[in-house]
Amino acid sequence: MSVLAQMNTGKHEQVVFAQDVDVGLRAIIAIHNTTLGPALGGTRMYPYATEEQALRDVLDLSRGMTYKAAAAGLDLGGGKAVIIGDPLKQKSDALLRAYGRFVNRLAGVFYTGEDVGTDVSDMEIVRTETPFVGGLSRERGGGGDPSPITAYGVLQGMKACAAERWGHDSLEGRRVAVQGLGKVGWHLTELLQKANATVVGSDVNRDRAAEARQLLGIETVDPDAIYDVSADIFAPCALGGAISVDTVPRLKCDVIAGSANNQIASSPAVRMVSERGILYAPDYVINAGGLMNVWVELQGYDSARALKLVGNIYSNLREVFSVARRLEITTSAAADRFAEERLARGALTKTGLSRQADGAIARTTEAPESLAPAHL
Ligand code: NAD
Repeated sequence: MSVLAQMNTGKHEQVVFAQDVDVGLRAIIAIHNTTLGPALGGTRMYPYATEEQALRDVLDLSRGMTYKAAAAGLDLGGGKAVIIGDPLKQKSDALLRAYGRFVNRLAGVFYTGEDVGTDVSDMEIVRTETPFVGGLSRERGGGGDPSPITAYGVLQGMKACAAERWGHDSLEGRRVAVQGLGKVGWHLTELLQKANATVVGSDVNRDRAAEARQLLGIETVDPDAIYDVSADIFAPCALGGAISVDTVPRLKCDVIAGSANNQIASSPAVRMVSERGILYAPDYVINAGGLMNVWVELQGYDSARALKLVGNIYSNLREVFSVARRLEITTSAAADRFAEERLARGALTKTGLSRQADGAIARTTEAPESLAPAHL
């Protein structure tokens, strides 16, 4: 399929192909939707086997960012960038700076940050060429490592699940199976312990699991056995695709709520979760803490403000669950509706219109909000 045909299918606004032959840069920046504000998305560096795979990934990921930002209630659109290459062998200061110049040419329509294959120090190099970068270290005025605040957001999401499923939002006495004891899983475990919940964990990295047993005092099980653990909540905090047609029948939990991106492997798995009566907290709603943190950073980082904003994950999820109940649809479908409704309202505002209580569309007298973050 041609690039424009793929953009047409996904309703992408703009795709930029960038190259600098001298430094070996080959990158694609996809801007999916800027209805609510400038597109924001990380820069992934990965040795894609083909250009087509890189394009597919950046188109999918940028679309996901539109939904994530909309559901998070942020005035941000969705974008993403991929640099084609092996980060261990091909990353250089010159390449990152060349990439930064391309980001700069987009003049604030696209903001970026770290992702798979890039880190905070890389973004600080990109920052030497463009101000349109977030996710910098605290020393440089950024929000720093987003994992603690992402974990805090997941905890708020779990409380919303508890309220929906058990009628009150306390996690006291609950048993949580945490898959992946990496940055987020580790912080989440600490928060759950503070909330008097019990954690059973797993990690493919045996050293990490041993460290968790020793330092956090939790029980751990073999990576594959985590699906069979009897728990109130299953928290996928490792890689995507944990919830599949093979794993759903094994789960012994009432709730799925974790930080991983793209937790559900397929549409049949979504249906199976729903048929089994398990409450699923849609991944892009519950794991939006990191994105919210960057949003605050773009306006001048303030940790109290970031925490307050991330606390909204509780009400966002409650709203998603309420849409799911009202329309008798899955929570995944409800999250998409929730985001799409906000996009539709934003599209009206952008043109100086708004929807009235009776559903009629009227011209607003107020000027639409500025679409750009205030800093810089
Ligand atoms: P991380 O790399 O620090 O941790 C992931 C951990 O999962 C690692 O310890 C790894 O060994 C382990 N792991 C991998 N496969 C596993 C498996 N099959 N079973 C058990 N353990 C396994 O990553 P992170 O920053 O903690 O992020 C965790 C997840 O949350 C990722 O999917 C990430 O995309 C998502 N996420 C993270 C953030 C953030 O702020 N860090 C924000 C949003 C979403």
